[in-house]
Amino acid sequence: MTARRRVGILGGTFDPIHIGHLHIAQCALHDLHLDDVIYVPAGSPPHKPDQPLTSGALRLEMIDAAIDGIAGLKSSDIDLHGAAPSYTSVLLERFRARHPDTELWFIIGSDSLHEFHTWHRPTGIIELARLAVVERPGWPIGSLTERPDVPGLARSVDRIGSVPIDLSATVIRKRLAQGLPVDWLVPPRVLDLIQEARIYREELDQ
Ligand code: ATP
Repeated sequence: MTARRRVGILGGTFDPIHIGHLHIAQCALHDLHLDDVIYVPAGSPPHKPDQPLTSGALRLEMIDAAIDGIAGLKSSDIDLHGAAPSYTSVLLERFRARHPDTELWFIIGSDSLHEFHTWHRPTGIIELARLAVVERPGWPIGSLTERPDVPGLARSVDRIGSVPIDLSATVIRKRLAQGLPVDWLVPPRVLDLIQEARIYREELDQ
């Protein structure tokens, strides 16, 4: 009998992708013995309705530039063309329908675990995938998995070891708007794309 393929899905805005996103994917690949981690940029993130977004095509292009040539890291545009908003439960259902024999993890930072109970159909999500949670500075995992309103959450979580990286795409956008360097916070080819497209030149969001 052949082993089932083991896949981690890393959903997010990726506006832009940064080294935090790259490090957590590598840690999940390692700890969970995954075959692949797939970056899935959201077309319309439901929990960031007011944030002005770079086009999905350019966010995907930055992801592809960042992961080019790295074994085990892939991307998918599956969530860029669906009906808005981009619900994780719907994404996982679509992925599950296409790949019924795959073992699935949805990879999240601990900040996302804090608000997981507010997501659309959280119980449905953990019926479709396990959660791979990576600690993000300032967001201790602690007893977060004990939530009576999301039955089964605690036993659906795999904690991933990592070097906590205190970095967000918001910080990257702010630094660029202020003319500050972001070298090595994003891969060099991502920085090239940012400069070519002349994005993040103004501070637009919070
Ligand atoms: P923004 O600052 O625009 O909100 P972000 O840096 O938080 O963006 P997202 O695209 O929203 O990035 O994140 C996608 C996923 O990656 C989320 O689950 C988030 O928790 C996780 N993540 C992002 N940055 C880190 C980090 N530095 N450490 C651990 N997890 C992270």
